[in-house]
Amino acid sequence: MPEKMQYSQAQAFLRVGLIGDPVAHSYSPRFQQAALDALGIPARYELWQTPETQLIERVRSLCTPNYLGANVTIPHKQAILPLLDMVDPLATRIGAVNTIVHHNGYLQGYNTDAPGLLLALHEQGLGKMQEDGHVMLDGYTAVLLGAGGAARGAAFALIDAHISRLIIVNRHLEKAQQLAADLQHNYDGPIFSLSDPSFLIPHPSSIIINATSLGMHEDVSPLPAEVLSHFNADTFVYDMIYNPTQTHLLCQARTINLRTANGLSMLLHQGALAFTLWTGQPAPIEAMRAALMHE
Ligand code: NAP
Repeated sequence: MPEKMQYSQAQAFLRVGLIGDPVAHSYSPRFQQAALDALGIPARYELWQTPETQLIERVRSLCTPNYLGANVTIPHKQAILPLLDMVDPLATRIGAVNTIVHHNGYLQGYNTDAPGLLLALHEQGLGKMQEDGHVMLDGYTAVLLGAGGAARGAAFALIDAHISRLIIVNRHLEKAQQLAADLQHNYDGPIFSLSDPSFLIPHPSSIIINATSLGMHEDVSPLPAEVLSHFNADTFVYDMIYNPTQTHLLCQARTINLRTANGLSMLLHQGALAFTLWTGQPAPIEAMRAALMHE
């Protein structure tokens, strides 16, 4: 954990914010500002709309003394890596940074999406938390829908959590296969790649994770209801989408009495981990949750 910050009068206007394009839709300001206010940290969380042509300039500006760091979102999570002084091993393996910490003119990159997903699953009663705070998922099978940026982070998080079996389902099979190949260097367990979910074989203790964008803009599901109906009653369905809060996939799952959760909890936990990296303080998670859920 980073050193706890000392706040002085000279730092009266600390700044932290979100780098991306677009950023206007983001939920981060509401719960990050609630966290800063709850701990009396004199800082503002801002939205930093940053087109690709301004990324270098934006990153440089983070070295200003009163900047704590930043979150990074689409489309810069990959492009930002070479612009930083240090990238931690998990973010390097995933190839994506969503959190930057500024410390004495140095910029350090982290990925809190991946551990944020594990904490969100653990909050739902899945897996075991070790003394060091790592969530372990031994004995579970993960069905990961998607092979884009979010799926990549999830896949590395799942193998780090010792998932017993990983099945990657993606429209373009070659992307699922590429992700499986990248993971295999760090994982002894079985990884399967599929493009057609109809070929899914249900296993006990399954966690189905939607990391595609299907369900965000249209009322469609990445899994046919018929396929879902073959899964065991102990299957958990997690949809990374949080807007809308009830996706078609989650409705399908609830209709057949499977346990479900949407992506708000992952958003919350990735944000809480980022907050601790910036401030060195435990995140006031309930204040953040309240700001996120009840706006
Ligand atoms: P991305 O890199 O663009 O990947 C999109 C994925 O969706 C790919 O696997 C793509 O498949 C698949 N896909 C898109 N349209 C499809 C269609 N019509 N039919 C089948 N598959 C389709 O996006 P991302 O950054 O990974 O984000 C994915 C989702 O995760 C988004 O909804 C995002 O909001 C969510 N997310 C949530 C959190 C959170 O904190 N809760 C964090 C990050 C992301 P192909 O490879 O075949 O094109």
